[in-house]
Formats: sequence, C-alpha cells, structure tokens
Amino acid sequence: PDHAPDLLVVGSGFFGLTIAERMAAELDKKVLIIERRPHLGGNAYSEFDAETGIEVHKYGTHLFHTSNEKVWEYVNRFTDFTNYQHRVFGKYQGQVYSLPMNLALINQFFGKSHTPDEARALIAQLASEFKTEDATNLEEKAISLIGRPLYEAFIKGYTAKQWEKDPKDLSPDIITRLPVRYTFDNRYFNDKYEGLPVDGYTAWLTRMAEHPNIEVRVGVDFFDVAEEFKGKVPIVYTGPVDEYFEYAEGRLSWRTVDLKSEVLDVEDYQGTGVVNANDPEVPFTRELEFKHLHPERADRYTPGKTFVVREYSRFAEEGDEPYYPINTADNREKLLKYRDLAKAEPMVLFGGRLGTYKYLDMHMAIASALSMFENKLRPHFVDGAELKSGGVDE
Ligand code: FAD
Ligand code: UDP
Repeated sequence: PDHAPDLLVVGSGFFGLTIAERMAAELDKKVLIIERRPHLGGNAYSEFDAETGIEVHKYGTHLFHTSNEKVWEYVNRFTDFTNYQHRVFGKYQGQVYSLPMNLALINQFFGKSHTPDEARALIAQLASEFKTEDATNLEEKAISLIGRPLYEAFIKGYTAKQWEKDPKDLSPDIITRLPVRYTFDNRYFNDKYEGLPVDGYTAWLTRMAEHPNIEVRVGVDFFDVAEEFKGKVPIVYTGPVDEYFEYAEGRLSWRTVDLKSEVLDVEDYQGTGVVNANDPEVPFTRELEFKHLHPERADRYTPGKTFVVREYSRFAEEGDEPYYPINTADNREKLLKYRDLAKAEPMVLFGGRLGTYKYLDMHMAIASALSMFENKLRPHFVDGAELKSGGVDE
C-alpha cells in the first residue's frame, strides 16, 4: 500500500517503543505501532487515580533500576527520575521484618543481637542440614542456603502462594541463590541507578512515541490485520511467541496476578510501598500502597485517603494477562521449538518479554531492544543486510 510504514511494531511496551523511537529518530523511518490494549505502554502503564490523586501502576508495581550506562543515558532522554529507593518488608506471625534477609531480620527473628560474624556462623550451621548440590527440590535447596527456620518463615508460605505448589514439588532450579546480607543494608536493588519517573510512567512512555514518524494505533489486535502486513513490511513482534504460531507446539504456560484494589479512608495504611504477606494462611502475596512510591507528591494527594492493591498469584488461563514465564522442562522444550519457528519466519523479529518468553525487567527489555536495533535493524535499513532473526533469543 501507498502509506505502508517502513516497519511495523506489534506491541507498545518498552521493547516496542524503544525500537520505534530508534527507527524514527536515528534512521528517519516511518513506524506503525499496533497495540491491542486500549492504551500504549504495555505493563509499565500507570494512571493517576481521580479520587486520591495517587499514581497507580495498573499491572503491578514497577520499580526502575539499572547498572547499564547506555540504558540509563537513553531513558533520561525521556524522563527525569526521583531519588526513590525501594525497600520491602514482610509480615509473619504478627511481626513486620525488613527484607531482603539482613542483620535486622536475623536479630529480630532469633530475638538476639548478632555481630555480622555471629550471624554468618549461625546461618552456616542452620544451613548444614542439606548440601546444596544434593537438593532435589526447592525446599531442600532453600534450606541448604539459609537453614530451615528462615526458610519456613519467609520462603515457604510466600513461594507456595506464588506458585500454588508445595516448594517440595518445585524444581531446585527456580532459585539459584537466596541473598542474606550480614549488614543492616535493606535496599532491595543493588543497581547503580534507581528511581521513578517524576511525572509518571505513562508520561515517559508517551514521550517515547512522540516522534512525527511514529503512529500508534491502540485497540488493534495484530492478528486481525496480519494479512495486510505479513511478508510486505518488516515486523518486530513483541506479543506472545506461541500465539504468533497459533500454538502449533502447544501453549507456553504463564503465571498471572489478580490485582484487587481498594481506596481506604485512612491517611497511611502501612507506612511503606510494599509489604509481603509471608504467612501461608493469608491468601494474597503482598500489599502495595502506591502513595509511598512518591512521597514528593504528598501535597497533591487527597487528605485522609490511600490506594491499596493486593496481589493474588495464579496460573494464567486463556484470556488472562501473561505475567511470569514458568521455568519447567516442558515449557523449555516448547520454547526451543518456537525458537526454530521464529528463526525461519521471514521478515519478522521477535522480542520483548512475551516474544522471548523470558522475564525481563524494564531496563533489560530496553537494553535488548537497543541491541536489536543496532545489530539487526540498522544493518538491514542502512546497509541492506538481510533481516534475519536470531530466533526468539535476541
Ligand atoms: P509488555 O510491556 O508486556 O508489552 C507488550 C505489549 O504487546 C502489550 O501492551 C500487549 O498488549 C501487546 N500485544 C501483545 N500481543 C499483541 C497483539 N497480537 N496485537 C497487538 N498488541 C499486542 N520491570 C522492572 O524493571 N521493575 C519492576 O518492578 C517490574 N515489575 C513488574 C511487575 C509485574 C507484575 C510484571 C508482569 C512485570 C514487571 N516488570 C518490572 C517487567 C516489565 O513490565 C517489563 O520489562 C516490560 O513490560 C517489558 O516490556 P515489553 O515491551 O517486552 O512487554
Ligand atoms: N520470595 C520469598 N519470600 C519473599 C519474597 C520472595 O520466598 O518474601 C521468593 C519467592 O519464591 C518468589 C521469588 O522469591 O517467587 C521472587 O520474589 P519477588 O517478590 O522478589 O519477585 P517479583 O514478584 O517482584 O518479581
């Protein structure tokens, strides 16, 4: 067609937006983004709640952090960041502990003050029950790393809720390590840069798509218009890879999260952004109180109200939002087959969290899109190199 774009991008999350922005701004190419949700931005999308004035992350809390200089420089072109530092607490049997496991948690849990060396010796002794290399399931592996008491309090219930399975029935591969810090440092992330976009995620995401060469069509499902584009324009596809191939190799399974929100008539519900629910009998995994992510906006919030979300984790059925890939042998096998199909698919590159069936943090999705742009798209559009997918594992 006359007005055909130079590139079609399926999906307007951070991966798709980064690709579109680079193509438009760097190579002056026309990009059409189609997005099946009624808004752009993918899972990082947020809205300001009208009643409370609080920014609510519609698909779960999104904390930005990175140590990647290139990504940090890139994202700062579109937004400034606050100096927010993420901290997480966990409730267990009527007490609140500071996570990740650190000296404060160890002292409080065992009811005694330990020097760093004493705490190290204590955990080593408790962990000697199993050897890590002999662990046959997640429970044994966790005990071999941190010992049974801390495992039973902080890992067992939470993990069982997150996966709807007894940790004894989960693969030891799901956890590689469980960090215990022998200091009072309770910052959640270790990265060099951390913060939240000053005027919100949606403002940031919208600015990425502002270039005149970029058109975004929301509310359009690729599969309803695929015939217009397939084989005619190069495509970067960031939807679920199994859906693209009509589930030819079977469905890849995902976990989803039900987010149940509530406006409460209290000024402050929990005093912090995220509190994990480590008791097994509490049905949700954690409670989010969004106002605490932006204390600098305090004077813009409606007094006496707060916005709280509880997360309930479950297996994703057809029609649910796919959130977390499930790392089992069966899924890994299917993924390899989809990778082969993706490699053979002409003029289509697969990327992003859904396109690669990999949990990617925002900074990883952006880094991966920047590298697809440099290694695949630029050589194709500038030097005429063949557009070849490396499979879904770019
Ligand atoms: P997405 O954001 O999922 O975007 C893909 C888009 O493609 C979606 O908008 C979808 O609607 C669209 N799409 C799919 N199929 C089609 C189709 N057929 N036609 C048209 N459009 C289609 N990262 C962090 O760095 N920090 C965090 O704290 C963090 N928290 C998270 C919490 C949760 C619950 C989840 C699920 C993710 C979190 N992430 C976090 C990860 C972050 O959301 C991802 O890194 C980011 O969304 C990846 O962007 P993406 O473009 O690959 O995918
Ligand atoms: N986890 C846990 N207890 C906690 C927090 C995390 O057992 O209090 C384990 C659990 O197995 C979970 C994994 O660590 O699946 C990752 O949890 P986290 O909440 O950090 O991940 P997110 O859901 O934020 O990606």
